[in-house]
Amino acid sequence: MDENLAMLIELSHQLADPAFNLAILGEGNTSTRCDQETFWVKASGSQLATIDSHGFSRVNGRAVLDLLDNQQLSDAEIETGLKSALADKSMKKPSVETFLHAICLFEIGVDWVAHTHPISAMSILCSTAGADPFKQHIFPDEIVVCGQAPVVIPYIDPGLPLARYIRNELKRYLDAHGEPPKLMLMENHGIVALGMQPADVLNISLMADKWSRTILGTYTMGGPKYLSQEQVERIDTRPDEAYRRRLLSSLN
Ligand SMILES: [Zn+2]
Repeated sequence: MDENLAMLIELSHQLADPAFNLAILGEGNTSTRCDQETFWVKASGSQLATIDSHGFSRVNGRAVLDLLDNQQLSDAEIETGLKSALADKSMKKPSVETFLHAICLFEIGVDWVAHTHPISAMSILCSTAGADPFKQHIFPDEIVVCGQAPVVIPYIDPGLPLARYIRNELKRYLDAHGEPPKLMLMENHGIVALGMQPADVLNISLMADKWSRTILGTYTMGGPKYLSQEQVERIDTRPDEAYRRRLLSSLN
């Protein structure tokens, strides 16, 4: 079996560990590059917890991105387009969230993507506060692992409008920061972890869950006490934090 696909299966099982509460049933999806042109992404109807090689589709990245460039497409044309983007036509149809994965892998320059629906993050992202509690920081590890500035996506009907919004936001982030974001927060939906290794996206997902649970916990104690921007910058650029980041990335 393709080495990346084997690692993707293992990552999917880890993300679906019931102890983590990141995804149940058919929730969530994962992806990684297969070669220069194609990538593996969870197929429609597969479950992260039990997925094997047959639960993934291999899809042509350019073909998916071309659909995004096409302004007027009906739901039926999107279905047909996604099916024709399959590198191996005998594989299962990829989900509509395939657009998100193609953008991250082929336009933003990350190698691994994990989208989940953690109860903790959703408790905040589905509240009247939306993503606001994540716009300031409360402890060093969430800055080190999840990055200084998560990308926030408002609720948009899944499909092309959502994918185009995400594409614009990610490009804007890349232009402003010169590197891809680590975490994307989707209001009324879930989170996306972006990384260069499977361990990165697992760590980001787990830390986003801890960050969310901590935010929720602070509201029983008078609310979050945010770090100052100066403190945040210092944590983000400390040499020992950079070392910790590399160490975490190498753990698998
Ligand atoms: Zn989702």
